[in-house]
Amino acid sequence: MKFETKAIHAGVTPDPSTGAIMTPIFQTSTYVQKSPGDHQGFEYARTQNPTRNVLQENLAALENGTHGIAFGSGLAALDAIMKLLNPGDEVVSTNDLYGGSYRLMVKLFEKYGIKFHFVDFRDHQAISEVIHAKTKLLWIETPTNPMLSIIDIKSIVEKYKTDNMLVCVDNTFASPYLQQPLDLGADIVLHSATKYINGHSDVVLGAVIVKDKSLADQFYFIQNASGAVPGPQDCFLTIRGIKTLHVRVDRACENASYLAEKLRGFDKIANVYFPGFEDHPGHTIAKSQMKHFGAMISFDLKEDTQEQANKILEKTHLFALAESLGGVESLIGHPASMTHASIPYDERQKIGLTDSLIRLSVGIENKEDLWEDLKQAIG
Ligand SMILES: *Cc1c(COP(=O)(O)O)cnc(C)c1O
Repeated sequence: MKFETKAIHAGVTPDPSTGAIMTPIFQTSTYVQKSPGDHQGFEYARTQNPTRNVLQENLAALENGTHGIAFGSGLAALDAIMKLLNPGDEVVSTNDLYGGSYRLMVKLFEKYGIKFHFVDFRDHQAISEVIHAKTKLLWIETPTNPMLSIIDIKSIVEKYKTDNMLVCVDNTFASPYLQQPLDLGADIVLHSATKYINGHSDVVLGAVIVKDKSLADQFYFIQNASGAVPGPQDCFLTIRGIKTLHVRVDRACENASYLAEKLRGFDKIANVYFPGFEDHPGHTIAKSQMKHFGAMISFDLKEDTQEQANKILEKTHLFALAESLGGVESLIGHPASMTHASIPYDERQKIGLTDSLIRLSVGIENKEDLWEDLKQAIG
């Protein structure tokens, strides 16, 4: 089955009791047993829920994995991944990553004796310098957030992965439609389904997808033992959102290419970061590991101050000033003060995340309307 067909059908079957074509929302906390232990595969809703099962199966299919495990948020999914580790283990991560992921790693898991190294994954020498026998997890996010650098998943796996090391890719920015990391050798894919997967800015949900039964069993254990499960209503909305994932992402990518080109013509703008540009350093890799170049654009200003950025951020009408991304509506944000405020100033400067950097999540509105909106705001 091709992606578009899987998005609509994988894991979804008509409800056997009524024939309902849409997956029912099983809003129940427990299930009646005939006699102790004699049940229909469902005992308690933290452990199993039929609506959640459908979502998990669908997500596994979209990522060409064997198992999907859903969580209450993207960060709850990340939390579950960290719980695979033991004190003394080390993680080598890309240094340009979602602020909340950085915060969870450094502010919470360092406390439990796990050590994190953050390096630029485009620089293989830098990776070699921090990787050793204690490294149990490589953490890749690509395209990176908010600088939109591209990391070569396949070459990192081939060069650095050993038998006692896992490679995880946070695939939130690309979505499973554009990029399938398990096929490139990764062991774990993380999604904040809050973004493109649900796509309608009305759910917070996360997932882990794997292609190995024993790893899946560890995640099912953590899902049940830690209990950060999503509710059935949110699972239902996510299943519904996925049915149009490919159509939404196609249009958003087309709009983003159009806007990125236009932004480049502006005098006030210093840099426009978009992997679709032929002169973007990661363009060739993006072309080979992604279907399109994504729908995120970042740019900064020649007059590099937050005040200058604010003038634009306060003036857009269609681009709503808000955190998050991947919804049908376009959003504009200021990473230094919003999504990436938890990353220290020096770390931000190192990766080029300047005070005037503005990030766009391009939606599926009419592209000329979007351009008019940006044009009047930048002035
Ligand atoms: C939003 C986001 C997360 C966190 O997901 P939540 O659903 O907000 O918990 C993790 N990684 C990336 C790249 C994100 O954009």
